[in-house]
Amino acid sequence: MPIHSPRRDAEPGRNGQSPAAKRLARLRARMEKEKIGSILITTLSNVQYLTGFTGSAGSLLVTAGGSIFFTDSRYDIQAREEVSGSHVEIVKSDSMTAAAKRAGRGRGGRVGFESGTVSFQGHKRLRELAPRARLVPTVGVVEELRVEKDADEIEKIRKAVALGSRALEETLPLLRPGMTELEVAAEIEYRMRRYGGEGPSFETIVATGPRAALPHARATTRRIRPNEFILLDLGVILGGYVSDMTRTVFLGKAPARAVRIYRAVKEAVEEAEQAVQAGRSGEDLDKAARKVLRRYGYEQYFTHSLGHGVGREVHELPRVSRGQKAPLPEGAAITIEPGVYLEGYGGVRIEDIVIVRKGSGDVLTPTSKELMEL
Ligand code: ZN
Ligand code: ZN
Repeated sequence: MPIHSPRRDAEPGRNGQSPAAKRLARLRARMEKEKIGSILITTLSNVQYLTGFTGSAGSLLVTAGGSIFFTDSRYDIQAREEVSGSHVEIVKSDSMTAAAKRAGRGRGGRVGFESGTVSFQGHKRLRELAPRARLVPTVGVVEELRVEKDADEIEKIRKAVALGSRALEETLPLLRPGMTELEVAAEIEYRMRRYGGEGPSFETIVATGPRAALPHARATTRRIRPNEFILLDLGVILGGYVSDMTRTVFLGKAPARAVRIYRAVKEAVEEAEQAVQAGRSGEDLDKAARKVLRRYGYEQYFTHSLGHGVGREVHELPRVSRGQKAPLPEGAAITIEPGVYLEGYGGVRIEDIVIVRKGSGDVLTPTSKELMEL
């Protein structure tokens, strides 16, 4: 799924530490650097990342010496089974209130909170519950830790990607003129569930004919017709991690213009994928793709970011677009998804997930990028 404007476990590892414990240790190192004695984690995906919990309500209070996970009685059994690295407390109030009250028990000092997701009302409440604490707004502290995926996470992403590819590849032979975009989306999403996915990670995009020129088109009741592009962008959630892929196929024999557009996008995605390696920036990859599209005269029709980070969410850090000069670290999971969109005619996008490695990129998406004429 493209972004338009660049937006500013429980198994022990080799040394016996669970992934959650390792992640908490990295968070504490960061807290020490920022001189924050404790931090309230209330963004659900961050809570899940740091604890292994898969339920949908819980807050975490991390201090230099310990970590307490607060949730309510609906999650009593589940929290005790899943959470590692943190002490579990079942509370009657909402979990954020309980965590804030506990933070307020300290001698004061700097208490971090996630300013991107705590509402204005929530902040007011924090001040009431922890009056002695000096509340410090933090931005992206855990999100930045999440950029570098560990082996366990990469394996989960790989499985989600394989499932998404299977759902798409089994649906393509079913495409016939007269089917609606919604029917195609339903066939894909049925297979996601059928093969063990927890659901789609975003509303499946099926955009046919001139609608393929809309990068974020939702599936509609439009019927697919011969001699048109069909753009399919889909993602699945599996084991708490997501996939995201796009393929564009042609219904019938593609004429020269369609072949040329497709070839430009395919070369752009391949060129950018070949440029992936730890130390290169999002901007470097974006340039690699744009250079190819410029050669074909299509650069101005590539109107969104080259890609984005993926993991627990479809859009997470790092940013992969123009102006992003920070070097990508080893272990980052990113999409590469150039596209060309011609108003009134249609569009082509191809999207893979790539793991950033030392010296290269590991393309996880197994589906062929050759032009498929159905
Ligand atoms: Zn996508
Ligand atoms: Zn995407």
